[in-house]
Amino acid sequence: YQEWEQLSRRVDAHSHYVQMAATIAHEVRNPMTSVRGFLQLLAKKMEGGEHQMYLDVMQSEIDRMNAILSEYLSMARPAQGSEQVDLASLVRETFLVLEGEANYRGVQLGLELEEGYRLEGNARELKQVLINLVRNAFDAMNGTDGKIDIRLHGGVIAVADNGCGMNPEQMERIFEPFFTTKAAGTGLGLPVCRKIVESHGGTLEVTSVPGRGTVFTVRFA
Ligand code: ADP
Repeated sequence: YQEWEQLSRRVDAHSHYVQMAATIAHEVRNPMTSVRGFLQLLAKKMEGGEHQMYLDVMQSEIDRMNAILSEYLSMARPAQGSEQVDLASLVRETFLVLEGEANYRGVQLGLELEEGYRLEGNARELKQVLINLVRNAFDAMNGTDGKIDIRLHGGVIAVADNGCGMNPEQMERIFEPFFTTKAAGTGLGLPVCRKIVESHGGTLEVTSVPGRGTVFTVRFA
């Protein structure tokens, strides 16, 4: 599998575990897809019945498992090579991808843009970084009045949220592969983000106040 090699190159610490995880992720997907198919069939047959809700929940839980596996495997995909990336366009496009999800979650997603910064790199990977950071911010929201701002100034992108924040012990560990505080977390999001940003010559930093919120800063210049 080419995917294994890619994975181990990206996350060189713990590479053995990452390879194992990728194998499992890949292999588990096929039986899951068939279960999903039969569930859908059953749901159709039992439409309107008293147990339909169970089937709906099962389907959406399988979709969630599938999403987790996709996250693992997406870092296995080889990079598409290098291109001129216009940071403002990239941030704008990513914002559009996330806007619907923000609405659905009742989170206010703000955008502040400064045009003009370009860099050599891989747009797909850089988008993945931003999407990861904002999805983490979604997960950090507690209750109402959730707010996330994406700000681009020069070669610096900040993702700021008013979510649960992190204590210093937690902050020390979030870039470790497999560190997660979420029931369905992978703990791979941030280590992969940092790898991608550093492979573009940038840095990924975090500041956070428990109970107040968190700011992740991607700095290319
Ligand atoms: P995962 O999201 O699968 O847990 P990550 O590597 O993306 O993996 O994140 C690791 C941990 O960092 C999360 O489980 C969470 O505890 C913490 N974290 C990341 N982003 C935020 C944020 N915006 N606010 C609070 N905690 C966060």
